[in-house]
Amino acid sequence: MNEQGNLSINSENFLPIIKKWLYTDKDIFIRELVSNACDAVTKLKKLMLMGEADHIPADEEFAVKVVLNQDQKTLQIMDNGIGMTHEEIKKYINQIAFSGATDFLTKYQEKEEGDNEIIGHFGLGFYSAFMVANKVEIDTLSYQEGAAAAQWRCEDGIDYEMEDGTRTERGTTITLYLSEDGEEFMEESKLYAVLQKYCAFMPVPIFMDVVKKEEITEEDKKQDNVIDVSSKEDDQEKQGESTEGTDGEKQEEQAEDKVVPLNDPEPLWLKQPKDCTDEEYKAFYHKVFFDLNDPLFWIHLNMDYPFRLKGILYFPKLVENMDVVEGQIKLYSNQVYIADNIKEVVPEFLLLLKGVLDCPDMPLNVSRSALQNDGYVEKMNSYITKKVADKLNHLFKADRTAYEGFWDDIGMFFKYGCMKEETLYDKIKDSLLLKTTDGHYETIAEYLEKNKEKHENKIFFVTDEDQQAQYIRMFKEQGLEAVIFTSPIDKPFVSFLEYKNPGVKVQRIDADISDTLQEKADGEESEAKKQADESINKRMETLFRGVLGNDNLKVKAQNLKTADVSAMILLSEDSRRMMEMMEAYGNNEQYKALFANIKPDETLVLNKSNSLIQFLLDAAEKEEKKEECDMICHQVYDLALMSHRSLTSTEMTTFIDRSNRILEKLAELEK
Ligand code: ADP
Repeated sequence: MNEQGNLSINSENFLPIIKKWLYTDKDIFIRELVSNACDAVTKLKKLMLMGEADHIPADEEFAVKVVLNQDQKTLQIMDNGIGMTHEEIKKYINQIAFSGATDFLTKYQEKEEGDNEIIGHFGLGFYSAFMVANKVEIDTLSYQEGAAAAQWRCEDGIDYEMEDGTRTERGTTITLYLSEDGEEFMEESKLYAVLQKYCAFMPVPIFMDVVKKEEITEEDKKQDNVIDVSSKEDDQEKQGESTEGTDGEKQEEQAEDKVVPLNDPEPLWLKQPKDCTDEEYKAFYHKVFFDLNDPLFWIHLNMDYPFRLKGILYFPKLVENMDVVEGQIKLYSNQVYIADNIKEVVPEFLLLLKGVLDCPDMPLNVSRSALQNDGYVEKMNSYITKKVADKLNHLFKADRTAYEGFWDDIGMFFKYGCMKEETLYDKIKDSLLLKTTDGHYETIAEYLEKNKEKHENKIFFVTDEDQQAQYIRMFKEQGLEAVIFTSPIDKPFVSFLEYKNPGVKVQRIDADISDTLQEKADGEESEAKKQADESINKRMETLFRGVLGNDNLKVKAQNLKTADVSAMILLSEDSRRMMEMMEAYGNNEQYKALFANIKPDETLVLNKSNSLIQFLLDAAEKEEKKEECDMICHQVYDLALMSHRSLTSTEMTTFIDRSNRILEKLAELEK
């Protein structure tokens, strides 16, 4: 039987377009062909289970073998699976495989070039072989009893030829005669890397074999221990042996060498969570993510209904620099690797984690933008979010001490997650911790409750523990604590907290805290005392405004509990946020006019308990003390400024000069 035909649906543009499109990603032919081989085995196993292939021994060993022959420039993918009959080749290869490729082409042509990338390039299948080969052969024998072997050949994906084959062992061998485009796969390490990338968890043991150029000697050829693709008969015998592993000698040899497949056909994520040990989870993590550290904890996703979703999400231990957290979420479909970090599919907040997700129901042959609006993706997202929230809440309740122990590592992730996925915040808000300046970890509710008497509905935070050390010290002396918000994620998180907790003010430690830090007078203040205070404030304000030449400055004199601090600057939270915005957008012409009239709402709080301030109160209007007063005012203001923000270079130079003069005065060096 010999049959010829033409597959060239659009033969002039078909191959060039697909080749061009796939140019950057031609690796995927490996995924397509090896997963076809695995499918062929899986299908046969199913038939055996159903009692429809009783002639095959129950202990049959199934395998897929990838043989690279560097001498012949061929690559073979062999399986001992279901095989194909003549009719099946006609149907599945001549019609379906090529119509799949045509579909792909139509989709591709509909899109603007470079636009919607089709996820995973699915639907190309068998035809992808022509990306790297100019000639492809199929040698196959169906599992069906009495089936005839078939051989199919096609050059450049256009004209095919089909005839009876000579193969005697069940299964299929696809032989690719590598073209120039496929040259790179002649390299053993490249081929191995691509197999590892796409096939690491495919469900059938996969072995790779390389016949090296220099290894092929005349003697080898005589002894017939290489797969010689030019000699079909020998070839097929060999294929049968090597993939089925029925040859006693071969098996023994394998047992001795302990030949292990390059893949793990039963990845951990497919097991029931209750059957997995911690050690297994950790080992899987180390192996897949090349991270020597143990993960902090993990979430095993295992869902069959209403859609299938399996996977393991790991929470890695953070490395030194919190800013460079890079996750890796590997996406699989039925154990076939698709891609990493596809943000249209994986909930964005997960991209900081490491993990594997196997979603066989994911519509992968649609464009990325279509996926974003896909109901499936939405459902999967909410399922994963719920699982993550449940796990966190469970850990919080189960062992608070341990939970606090790794909060520093996971806190940033969850803050980010809450902002990206509001439903996550709603689910975990009672397990979110705030780390305080006292080294405690408190939930938002705990912090608010604890500080209810001192500052109701206010959360204070520090953004820089060194710079704001003085405020922190004063806070501590008052038995107050602020929350540590030093990572970049905390800035937007502050606004997010306020948005989610209406009525609660979240303020930096140097905002309007004078009420909080002031020594409380016993009982009601008399009217006379209030007036006296007011007049002191006025006197000091006049003094400082005059000396500093700043008419906007507000000055308040108070008795702070601590005498060491002479003054501090308070900037209302709103004003500080506005200043930060100005810093960020200040150079933008559009905003310049807008910002021009905005003056910071700054208050200089003078500490009446401090001796320097007492000196000023005494000497303010005395002409003979003017020089000292001026110097002290400037210095006190600068010192207050320094613990509030960094000085500009001009401010710093002036400060240093003045400090030197003060020291000279101290040493009476002045003439
Ligand atoms: P898909 O795998 O998406 O169905 P392909 O183009 O890759 O599309 O393959 C077309 C069909 O050819 C497969 O569905 C299968 O029936 C058949 N086929 C391909 N490779 C093999 C193989 N190694 N063994 C048996 N059948 C195969």
